[in-house]
Amino acid sequence: MKCPLCGSAEVSLKYRIERFTPPFDIHECRACRFQFRDRAGLDAYSYYDRGYYEGGNEFTYQDERRLEEASRIVWRARMKRLKRRDRSNSDNPSFLDIGCSFGGLMHVAEEFGYTAYGAEVSDFSGGYARERFGKERIYIGSIEDTALPDGKFSAAAMIEVIEHVADPRKALTNIARAMADGGVLLVQTADMDGLQARRAKGMYHYYLPGHLSYFDRHNLNRLLLESGFRRTQFIGGVEFGLLPKLLKSRASFLRFSEYIKWIRIAFYHWMSKITIGPWHFTSSMVMLAWK
Ligand SMILES: [Zn+2]
Repeated sequence: MKCPLCGSAEVSLKYRIERFTPPFDIHECRACRFQFRDRAGLDAYSYYDRGYYEGGNEFTYQDERRLEEASRIVWRARMKRLKRRDRSNSDNPSFLDIGCSFGGLMHVAEEFGYTAYGAEVSDFSGGYARERFGKERIYIGSIEDTALPDGKFSAAAMIEVIEHVADPRKALTNIARAMADGGVLLVQTADMDGLQARRAKGMYHYYLPGHLSYFDRHNLNRLLLESGFRRTQFIGGVEFGLLPKLLKSRASFLRFSEYIKWIRIAFYHWMSKITIGPWHFTSSMVMLAWK
């Protein structure tokens, strides 16, 4: 087996994840520290049907439509910061949400003056987004092979998506080509070199069947630069403030006593911002890359 990221044959088994049926293995490349699931015989994009969003599958994700109103508080905070970092100087800027799901973030991008486009591998959620934004604004298919227009997008986001991607190098090269000069891409995923992941080992909650690619801040940075981006910036765990996160979390509280959760959320939020030398205190990461 070769490393899907750098091609090295120096690959070893890191963990066997037994809490899913069937269990699966996580391999690690000793050359670039990329962790991954073996792609052989795996249909990487078969997970994202109705049951993934609405429950019923073993591997699921929250249906953003149920929390869209509350999520907008966080999305607005994020778009505000992303727009500030957009250096494309376009008069008519376009935004691309990679893994746009039902189009919630796209809606907010339009509030900020972008014409919003989405790319989505799921027919189910992408079909819904097409009804909302029109067929020509939603690209359905794997991001590696989607025919994106050249130099179009002034801002783009890939939030909790790159870990699902089978060929991240091909995907980022395709995205970089579609970015306008000075345009900014935000990538959020786990930093497997963060202390949280290192301490949790095989129990780390990010090890999930649909997560094929596990980066750290070092190899993700390198990959972005090799894929056609000129400059990157590692932000740490989050690029926005605590308040939007607290206000969003409140929407899912059923009892007043659940406000106690704010202590844990605040603690994690501040911890995630701390990186001292080789120590990144949590394992959430946001990386920005400019074309
Ligand atoms: Zn490698």
